[in-house]
Amino acid sequence: MRVAKATLKNGRTRDFVVVDDPPSGTMKEVFFTTDRKEVVCFYKDADAGRDPVRLQRLEAIVGKYNPTIPRSEGGGAQNDQDAAYYRNLFCWPTAIVTQPRFGIITPTYAPNFFFSEGPLKGNEKNGSWFTLTKPRSILAKFAPSELGNWRNYLALCIQMARSVARLHQAGLAHSDLSNNNVLVDPSKGCSVVIDIDSLVVPGLYPPDVLGTKGYIAPEVLATMSLPLKDPNRKHPSARTDEHALAVLCYEYLLLRHPLAGKRIPHANTAEEQDFLTYGPQALYCEHPTNNANRPIDLNYLSATALGPALSELFRRAFVDGIQHPNQRPTASEWVKGLVSTWDALIPCINSACSSKWFVLSNPKCISCPVCKAKPQIPIPVLKLRSEVRPGQWMPDGSLVAYHNCSLFEWHAFSNKFPGPASNRTPLAYCVWHGNQWLLVNQNLPSLTSPGGNRVPSGQAVALTNGTMFKLSQEKDGKIVQVELIQP
Ligand SMILES: [Zn+2]
Repeated sequence: MRVAKATLKNGRTRDFVVVDDPPSGTMKEVFFTTDRKEVVCFYKDADAGRDPVRLQRLEAIVGKYNPTIPRSEGGGAQNDQDAAYYRNLFCWPTAIVTQPRFGIITPTYAPNFFFSEGPLKGNEKNGSWFTLTKPRSILAKFAPSELGNWRNYLALCIQMARSVARLHQAGLAHSDLSNNNVLVDPSKGCSVVIDIDSLVVPGLYPPDVLGTKGYIAPEVLATMSLPLKDPNRKHPSARTDEHALAVLCYEYLLLRHPLAGKRIPHANTAEEQDFLTYGPQALYCEHPTNNANRPIDLNYLSATALGPALSELFRRAFVDGIQHPNQRPTASEWVKGLVSTWDALIPCINSACSSKWFVLSNPKCISCPVCKAKPQIPIPVLKLRSEVRPGQWMPDGSLVAYHNCSLFEWHAFSNKFPGPASNRTPLAYCVWHGNQWLLVNQNLPSLTSPGGNRVPSGQAVALTNGTMFKLSQEKDGKIVQVELIQP
């Protein structure tokens, strides 16, 4: 094993293993440290280290904007818990390398973001393995468990939207979000954002990044041929990330590109065709009034099957937001919409179903949109309300219950929202028992029955149609109103 020393800008050193043919991307060559916990990425461009803006940008990224290091240690995370949470969502650079060449150090990706067996062993789990028809069929043949179930795709979208929301909250933008720069693991429902060295950093000139075909925002594509410093040229920003995030969510949840339908624009070159497909004239394949670009598969699953929250976010992103970047949903709105959709999921009763889960999108006609199986027992919808003024209870979310589903603090209290600081201890769970639905108390100290009696831990409230009860007597405690939907 040949070992060399990398000198960091902070004066420390790291030993790395020299190989003749290192893994390499368009910008960087990658070498593992001797303990394989980190990688040393050297820029291929020998002059990269001489660009003062790039250096300033990297210093800010590694330092004060770094959400994986607590503020007390010079990073941007609120505390250790916050930092640990975001270490799972980002592969964030930890140091700048000055010798023998200019580069950065990043943690290695968690092993679950590499295929571990079969002919794909060692390959990164790039999103296109899971969203394109041919690669999916290869996985279905050689590694079917890698495909995961639909709920895991929703879970990985929530993680991805949280990562992007965290960047934007700090004033940063990724600039090149794509299936290449967000690795996914649908078998576990996880995602990790990588290639974080070209972020848009407040106060510094944006990086000269073009983005990736299919994810570049229409306004960037439209002004790409203008000189870099032309005031009309549109640069990567939080708004362009919002376009890419919407495309990625659409691809993972519906397995097709939202702008690439059956319409084939009249074009003389491939570039012109891309421009017409993805540029300002792009047409959403589920445009509500223009059906010219419908999906090629006639039996396509519509975004409406994902429920009103997500289909409306997609409409805003791909109808309003194509030409009006400020009308795109923000990453935080995506988090909210995806999380509320999570609470509308029910398991498919068909054990052979490829989706395994679906969204209860139309209470009048409940069936799995993938395999068409219908539930056999009533489905309880827990409509949650919180008190905005004394005695005035307003709708505050809902939870579609299924056998053994849990309620958490963000269901029971109006001042809680699922996030890095959430307590993930289940407070109660729902079961189908003796031909009825029950909500069994686990950790709700003042759960109160419809009749006004305290329900101690281990005891249950029956979930019958129209029942109303308090999850907690505390100030922010919500009430539940039950609606039983007959199959
Ligand atoms: Zn099904």
